[in-house]
Amino acid sequence: MAGRSTSRTTLTVGGAPPTERHPFADGALPPNAHVRGLYVHVPFCFHKCHYCDFYSLVDRESRQPAYVARLAREIAASAFALERPIETVFIGGGTPTFLEPTLLREALGAIRAGVTLAEGYEWTVEANPETVTPEVAAILVASGVNRVSLGAQSFDERALKTLERWHDPANVRRAVETLRAAGIRRINLDLIFGVPGTSLAGWEHDLDRALALEPDHLSCYGLTYEPNTAMTKRLDLGEFEPCDEDLEADMYERTIDRLAACGFEQYEISNWAKPGERCRHNMLYWTNADWWALGPSASGHIAGTRFKLVPRISEWLGADALAPVVDLERPDLERAKAETLLVGLRLLDGLPRATVDACLGVSGQEALARHLAQGTLEIADDRVRLTRRGLLVADGVLAEM
Ligand code: SF4
Repeated sequence: MAGRSTSRTTLTVGGAPPTERHPFADGALPPNAHVRGLYVHVPFCFHKCHYCDFYSLVDRESRQPAYVARLAREIAASAFALERPIETVFIGGGTPTFLEPTLLREALGAIRAGVTLAEGYEWTVEANPETVTPEVAAILVASGVNRVSLGAQSFDERALKTLERWHDPANVRRAVETLRAAGIRRINLDLIFGVPGTSLAGWEHDLDRALALEPDHLSCYGLTYEPNTAMTKRLDLGEFEPCDEDLEADMYERTIDRLAACGFEQYEISNWAKPGERCRHNMLYWTNADWWALGPSASGHIAGTRFKLVPRISEWLGADALAPVVDLERPDLERAKAETLLVGLRLLDGLPRATVDACLGVSGQEALARHLAQGTLEIADDRVRLTRRGLLVADGVLAEM
């Protein structure tokens, strides 16, 4: 629901990929592993939004109890990986708060019992505004959750309808108030711009409505048309016109200026935070740190090994101990260099010049020189980073690098 740039888990397209044994099924991590974060995927939603490419399902088979029981077993089987204190936990989906309250309490309790939380830890749960009741908020707080990411997406009913996103925009305020009353101070709002049929004025209105709720963090993403989503199929059928590229660029630039004027620091292409309020869990992704993964389709990264737990709930439910994986990537120096550049340059702090030089081959150095000349990258304080102009074409710059 949130964190579209986190690459934490996405729908598997193009058929069912073959599974492989979990890379750490033997119960040992490499000596250079340092697990700092935990990602847990809860796949249930009450409706499939048309733009969504996350692994989420409308469950007609009442599998929530089986999911929670299996999650507890997967946590127990992960004890060897979760021995050290964990700095960040992120429960995403899907809609984690769509779990029945008793099951939500049980799932959070199993996680709490299975990890040692480091001092000053961050524990985020994603929520749909409709699902945030005083009971749910109290369960989150009692379990140790201290940050909530709310999928607001838009305050414009027509835009929500276009996205086939089911919630009443008025409920975003109610959800924020409920969470604050329960004691959750850190709140992120996810917003989407570039929705077909919206205008610059409409987007500014969305930003105003979001800012009025005084979040400490905002994730603002341009709508992307992922393969095999209902939205992309409708686009291909010519059912609507996509947002004009120049208008979308104007929306992004307006976001940068408006949020800066309100005291937000843009620290990543799509993420803004009040000072000290960056999402520490997503920073693990963007700095290639190690995190463990639980739940169907959840992706993890341990000492250069990347894996994604099987993105099919029936197979995940039926697995013993650690579920099988798909998209397994073993440590590879060249891939690690590419990933360092791809994720590191998403951050507005950029990367040390020496790191970039160590990662680039001859053609990469040529691309760097070209982008420095074009003004899409700059070197400042001995760091390479995207310029404002570069932010507007970041995907292209990163791909070339
Ligand atoms: S709420 Fe919508 S966008 Fe979020 S995971 Fe569910 S279907 Fe996807």
